[in-house]
Amino acid sequence: MSDRLAFARALYDGVPLYDPKRTPVDLDLTDNTNLWGLPPTAERTLRELAVSRVTRYPSLYATELKQELAHFVDATPACIVTGCGSDDVLDSAMRAFGEPGSVVAGSEPSFAMIPIFAQMNGLQYVGVTERPDHQPDLDALLAANPRILYLCSPNNPTGAVLKRETLERAVREAPGVVFVDEAYAEFSGVSAVDLAMRVDNLLVIRTMSKAFGLAGLRVGYGIGATQLVRDVEKSRGPYKLNAVAEQMALAALRFDTPWVRDHVALAVRNRECLANELRARGYAPLASHANYVCVPVPRAVEVGQALRARGVAARPFPGLPHVGDTLRISVGPWELMERFLTAFDDATRDVNGGAP
Ligand code: PMP
Repeated sequence: MSDRLAFARALYDGVPLYDPKRTPVDLDLTDNTNLWGLPPTAERTLRELAVSRVTRYPSLYATELKQELAHFVDATPACIVTGCGSDDVLDSAMRAFGEPGSVVAGSEPSFAMIPIFAQMNGLQYVGVTERPDHQPDLDALLAANPRILYLCSPNNPTGAVLKRETLERAVREAPGVVFVDEAYAEFSGVSAVDLAMRVDNLLVIRTMSKAFGLAGLRVGYGIGATQLVRDVEKSRGPYKLNAVAEQMALAALRFDTPWVRDHVALAVRNRECLANELRARGYAPLASHANYVCVPVPRAVEVGQALRARGVAARPFPGLPHVGDTLRISVGPWELMERFLTAFDDATRDVNGGAP
């Protein structure tokens, strides 16, 4: 039965609240944040922040932060829009470019919020299953005639990077705007930002939640042609980025990029070690370019529950196209990976008799 009140907007009846099933657990490897902690200058900034930063309003559109972000991604400040997490940039951009009923086409599997953001903005979501090589099925996506075409690179949850030729064709042939979600781009070293600086229909969406370790601050940004990001900014509205987040993000971008680079390198090394450990146990993890490993595991939901019973959480993705049940494991310090592996060995023995 509907719990919608008579005066609520009808389409919200079908909009679920996001539930990634993230109840507290001792070792949480479900959200792909930076498990090494907070960059040092950002932390010092938090401790020393002037009270007036909180009693007064923040900047309207985060002009100073745009300058530092532009420097970080090698773009110009007029091509940047910030938001309250990349969630907010994605949501605002959908509102800016979609008329009610417009089609948002997205390759699947991918970020679970995309169909929800489409629905929240009165748009029609069309999901298109990716190809067996984990690249988007561009012909089928374009056939949906999308006003917005969503791609994610590295993709969540597979970890696959979008091929450059596929990206360039998408931008050439899409009838509307192409979104490339680069939440995990720091771990892949591959980015579409250079292309976004040259064309008028590509919006790259990034975040400080993952490699920068600032997920709780909610700092995301978009990069694209000046006119494109201006419309996202109108849709986003003023004062969106809070003042504490802005100051800490500025500090991190000015002083902590070596820390971020070092920890990205550690994550990449540990990702490969974790994949090797899984291979040694007979599993075949997907090639990942992000800070997580996605590994096919029979009865992944039950294995996830058995892990939880041992105080460890990894996210199950049941029935992924072409690969079946998988677990996605965030990569962090090696001691945590060892704890995961011990729990995983016990959990898979209980659920699957130890066989992959
Ligand atoms: N895009 C992808 C692919 C993600 O995995 C996430 C976080 N899980 C986001 C966007 C949103 O991140 P945030 O809002 O913290 O920037």
